[in-house]
Order: sequence, then structure tokens, then C-alpha cells
Amino acid sequence: MNEKNKFFVEKITAWYRKHHRKLPWRNTQDPYLIWLSEIILQQTRVKQGLPYYQKFVENYPSLQDLALANDTEVFRLWQGLGYYNRAKNMLATARQLYEKNEGRFPNSYQELLKLKGIGKYTAAAIASFAFNEPVAVLDGNVYRVLARYFGIFTDITSPKGEKEFRALAQSLVPKNSNEYNQAIMEFGALQCTPQKPNCMFCPLQENCFAFAYQEQESLPVKISKTQMRERFFAYLVWHKEEKIALKKRFEKDIWQNLYDFDLQEKDNLYELEQIPLVKGNFLYKSGIFKHQLTHQRIFVCFFHFEIIETSLLSQNLEWYTWESVQNLPKPILIANYLQTWQTKNLQG
Ligand code: SF4
Repeated sequence: MNEKNKFFVEKITAWYRKHHRKLPWRNTQDPYLIWLSEIILQQTRVKQGLPYYQKFVENYPSLQDLALANDTEVFRLWQGLGYYNRAKNMLATARQLYEKNEGRFPNSYQELLKLKGIGKYTAAAIASFAFNEPVAVLDGNVYRVLARYFGIFTDITSPKGEKEFRALAQSLVPKNSNEYNQAIMEFGALQCTPQKPNCMFCPLQENCFAFAYQEQESLPVKISKTQMRERFFAYLVWHKEEKIALKKRFEKDIWQNLYDFDLQEKDNLYELEQIPLVKGNFLYKSGIFKHQLTHQRIFVCFFHFEIIETSLLSQNLEWYTWESVQNLPKPILIANYLQTWQTKNLQG
């Protein structure tokens, strides 16, 4: 696990130990009680769901009690909570387990998924909270925290987004998945909230992408209403003696006819941060800059290399002295970067 990911897991877990709400379903590893709480809390706020959870536990303390319960009684208890299908599925599952599985919950994510009314999230929650299986839970809170901290702009409602977030979430899950999974959800519910997240007193702040670039409101992306597009530019700044290489942009794209560096466009922030594998001596990597256009948000990183063989340079690139670069028409982003770079080098 890299440093940024490690930091994330450690800080979130430490935060949780100090700040989490004491909720009854957190004091148990009984899969029945965990399942009950998860079903009740689907599309329901904790404050509203809590009395229902207590009523159900009181009336049906075990899976067997629920399986043998009278339908009408169960629906009456459910009254006011809405989404009655949940109650129906809950009863069906309880009876199925009672009749076919000796009243026990299966103890793995894959098996839990086969039960009625249990989707990926609920299966992961039971597998992790009851059996400590290292499987990631992925709910709205988790999407939000991951998108903001790691700077992921993929639409969370798209299949691509689900795949990307699931892979990332899974890569973070430590052995003690129970505590960590509770922690990330609680963190999303209390700290990194949809509106007005508490960034000022956030233990993730120093590494948080959204905080650094003030992107809290735009993350996570849910089928963007505006046609905003995110792009990730890795610029290779080639050096040869006192010269650098630039090229004119001919493509039908932004900045047509202006000059920029050797460009590699990446798919996401993670790829952008990796030093490109090219035949040159690596000199320097800049931080990441954000550049806002009307319909595009561009994240840019500059990588400086000393060229080994001029022949390796891609076509269109030409060498310029620092003085001659001044006269080229450039996007403001490039002009500003060159200016900062030059000032730094003159000072250095
Ligand atoms: S700094 Fe703000 S946006 Fe980032 S994780 Fe913390 S609360 Fe969320």
C-alpha cells in the first residue's frame, strides 16, 4: 500500500475511535442484528431508523423469532418506515434461512449475495461486520469520501465508476475490515458530509485532493448536469543544453495554434501522477495544477527530462531558447508555468 493510501486508512480509523456514534448495532457481531440494522437503514436516516431497530430487536430477538412471526404484525411494526418491499424481503430471507440453513446466515460475501433483498452493499456489510471478511463496503458515504480524497471524477452512477471505486475501495481494506469499514462510512456521515464538509478540522486534509483544489462541491460526480469534462495532461518538458522543446497545437481541440510541450493525455489523476517511462534523464516533477476552462477542467503535471538522443523526440517538437520561448503564443497555463520555472532557476 502506498503512503497516501496508508495515511488514509490510519487517519480514518483513528478518527473513528474518537468520534463515532455509539449505535446498538455496532456492539454486536451477530449477523442477524447487523442484517436487521442494514435493512432498516436502507434509504433511512439513523435517527429515524433507530427506534424501529429497537422495536424489532425487542419483538424478534433472533432470526428464528422473525421467521416464525406473523406477516401482519411485522408490517405493522414496519409502519411509517416506507419501502415495504424491504419488510417483505426481510421476512422471506428469514424464513429461507430458517428452513434451509438451520437459521444461520452464511458467513461469506459471495454466499450472502445469493439471499433475497441482499445486494452488494448489505452482503459486504454483514460479511465484514459479523465475520470480519476483508471486503469493502461501498455506499454513498464511501463514494463521497473516496472521490474527494483521491480526486476521482468518474461518474459514480456509471458501471465504469462502480468498477473503479470498488477496485480502489477493495485495495484499501485492511485485515481488520470491520472497524475500517465502519470508520469510512461514519466519516462520510459526520465529517465529509455532502454539504459543508468539515475540512478545517479534518485529519485527511493535508493529502485531500478536494481540499487542495476546492473541489468538494463537484465530487463525487453523479451524471454531471453541466457538460464539464475533466482532462489530465502530463507534459514532458524536454531539455537540451539551454533549450527546451515545444510544439504548435494543430489538432481541433483547445488551444489550437498555440504552443505547448510534449503532451501525454492520461485517463485519471492516478495515472497523471506517475512519472512517464521515456528515454531521457528525469530531472524534475512539478506539483499538480488545475486549470479551469468553460467546459473543461484540466489537471496538469510537468515532468522535466534531459534528452538523451534528439532523434527520439516526437515530430513537431522544436527547440527554443528561454528568450525565444517568450515570443511564442502559449496558453496562459504554459506561460505562467514557464515564468515560475525560470524565476526559480534564476534564483537557484
Ligand atoms: S478535507 Fe474536506 S473534503 Fe477532504 S476528506 Fe476531509 S472533509 Fe472531506
